[in-house]
This record gives sequence, C-alpha cells and structure tokens, in this order.
Amino acid sequence: MASIFARIAAGEIPSYKVAADDRFFAFLDINPVAKGHVLVIPRAEVDYIFDLDDDTLAGLYLFAKRVARALKAAIPCRKVGMAVLGLEVPHAHIHLVPMQSEGDMDFRREKLQLTAEEMQAIASSIAAHFE
Ligand code: AMP
Repeated sequence: MASIFARIAAGEIPSYKVAADDRFFAFLDINPVAKGHVLVIPRAEVDYIFDLDDDTLAGLYLFAKRVARALKAAIPCRKVGMAVLGLEVPHAHIHLVPMQSEGDMDFRREKLQLTAEEMQAIASSIAAHFE
C-alpha cells in the first residue's frame, strides 16, 4: 500500500497544500515545531532520502529552495532552517522551518496547537508567494 505521504501527494488524503508540480509536493506538517513548518516530498515513493536517484534528489532540493523563498516571504523569520529526519514516516521528506532562534529546530519540543483555520491561512499565504 502507498505511504501516507504518497497518498497525500496523490490527493487521496487531505493536507494543507503549499506547492506542487508533477514530481514534488509541499504541505504543512500537521504537528508543527513552528508556524509555517513545511514538508517537501518527491511523489516517487522512496523511504530514505539518500536512496533517491541523483536527479530526483537534486530536484527535491531545488523545489525546496523555491518553497523556502515563499515561506520566508509569508512568515517573518531570520532564516528558513532545513532538516531531514525520516524516523517516523517512511517516505523521503525535507522539513523546512521558519526560524527565529535555534530552538525552533528542536524537534523534541512540544508542538504547536493551531486551528484548522490558522493552518489553512498559513498554507494559503505560503502558496500565494510560491513562484
Ligand atoms: P519524521 O519522519 O521523523 O521526519 O517525522 C514525520 C513528520 O511528519 C512529523 O513531523 C509529523 O508531524 C509529520 N506528519 C505525519 N503525518 C502527517 C500528515 N498526515 N500530514 C502532515 N504531516 C504529517
């Protein structure tokens, strides 16, 4: 069966979509460490990011760069941090997190509780800046 993230990219499971093209998809992390925490994934179903073929890996990072620019325009922050964990969901993904301080990249800390309306507003704002 397809991974949860593959099903999100296919539109079978709802998400707060931020950006997409034929090969990549970006959406809000449902348990954000900071406002605007985004996940960027390839549509290709590969668990470990460093098992992606070179072209897909390079494309994923270039797509993440465009998302990070939109993120920084939408959410005031010092910089957008990037992390790859992948210990929970077996589908390659990059975390993008708008940072005010390095604590914003602490994935062990308590996650934010945002309403569906807040999540949708954040996703729409990032999507509006994506080019
Ligand atoms: P990791 O695999 O360790 O990088 O963590 C997976 C991340 O995916 C976590 O930050 C989760 O909050 C996030 N996550 C899991 N399921 C969903 C979902 N259905 N929609 C959005 N984010 C998710």
